[in-house]
Amino acid sequence: MRRVLILGGTGEGRLLAELLSGDPGLEVTSSLAGRVTEPRPAAGRSRIGGFGGAAGLAGWLRRERTDAVVDATHPFAAAITRNAVAATAAAGIPLLVLRRPGWAAGPGDRWLWADSLAGAAALLPALGRRVFLTTGRGDLAAFAALEGIFFLIRSVDPPGPPLPACHRLLLARGPFTPDAECALLHEHRIDLLVTKDSGGTATSAKLTAAREAGLPVLVVRRPPPPAGVPLVADPAAAAAWLRRLP
Ligand code: NAP
Repeated sequence: MRRVLILGGTGEGRLLAELLSGDPGLEVTSSLAGRVTEPRPAAGRSRIGGFGGAAGLAGWLRRERTDAVVDATHPFAAAITRNAVAATAAAGIPLLVLRRPGWAAGPGDRWLWADSLAGAAALLPALGRRVFLTTGRGDLAAFAALEGIFFLIRSVDPPGPPLPACHRLLLARGPFTPDAECALLHEHRIDLLVTKDSGGTATSAKLTAAREAGLPVLVVRRPPPPAGVPLVADPAAAAAWLRRLP
């Protein structure tokens, strides 16, 4: 019996737990940070809350006699990924990063790229006045000082301060449809969409809607995956990697 920890908080993490459930050779625990008030449940065992840094995670892995870790966290969750690299090295067990591919612009898209949230905030005033801001509630501080710009802010749970002075809050969780996203852009007379390059289909309808409306999109580039760690793009490949472990 192998013990596996999935660092989750993504659809891919949940799908991997589901793919592995019922495998008699694996005992799987999914871990969530506890950021959203009603997390979607994962198959198998689960735990919620931080570990207390890389050292805390390494201690947890040893105590639970964990054999392997899959980092299936969001592409922008850089701190837990760094901790996973350090903790698995300290515990002497293998780590796999499961990261969905980023989005790619197609014909008709008007995308501009920023290297960071601060970079996006610096570019923003030259690009729009009525902005659909979909970076998530943890990433709004970078935009808080921007004045004279209306922000439609969408997040799963209510964000805390600081927020831009002129904003309207929309609490919603994907998946979203292109038609509903088009209606939203129209209703709020949006002239710029700001997003992180999260990838995946759950929140990509806004990109289709922006293309159809001819709107520019400011895309924040993702942090690079950790060097020297095996990387797969989908849950099936992660399940195959786990089943191949010696
Ligand atoms: P982060 O900045 O990389 O992590 C901050 C701290 O949160 C970590 O040091 C760790 O605390 C704890 N943590 C993060 N993921 C955890 C997990 N799966 N299990 C247990 N503890 C975890 O992460 P974040 O960007 O705040 O994201 C938090 C969670 O939300 C992640 O699990 C991610 O998959 C999910 N999520 C993030 C985004 C995003 O845009 N960043 C979007 C959708 C979902 P300790 O140091 O105490 O262990």
